[in-house]
Amino acid sequence: MDVQRYKQRLLELEATLSGRSAREAKSGREQLIETAADAGDASVADESTSEDFTEAELDATVLQQVQDALRRIENGTYGQCLIDGGPIETKRLDAVPWAPYCAKHQQQFEAASRSKPTL
Ligand SMILES: [Zn+2]
Repeated sequence: MDVQRYKQRLLELEATLSGRSAREAKSGREQLIETAADAGDASVADESTSEDFTEAELDATVLQQVQDALRRIENGTYGQCLIDGGPIETKRLDAVPWAPYCAKHQQQFEAASRSKPTL
C-alpha cells in the first residue's frame, strides 16, 4: 500500500479543515454571505445560515478522524480496521482516506448508531 500517498492527502485535508473550521467558528454568518455572493445567489445565505454551523461541526469531526488516521500512519497501523485489524479496502481508502473501519464494520457501526430505541 502506498501510505505516503494517503499521508499527503490527509495532511492537505488537515490543513484545509483546520483553517476552515477556525474561520467558520469565528464568523459563520459573514463567511456564508460572502460565499453566497460569490456564487451569485445572495438569497441562499439566509436560508442556509444554520446549516453552516452543522457543516463546521462536521468538519471538526472529520478533522479529528483525519488526525487519528495520521497517527495510525505514524504507528504503522494505517489501513487496518480498528475492530478486527483486517485490511480496509483500497477503494475505500481512496474515497475516504481517514476511514477507520473496513466496509463491513463501518456498515455495522452506522446501522447501530441509526437504530434508536422505539417505544
Ligand atoms: Zn473490520
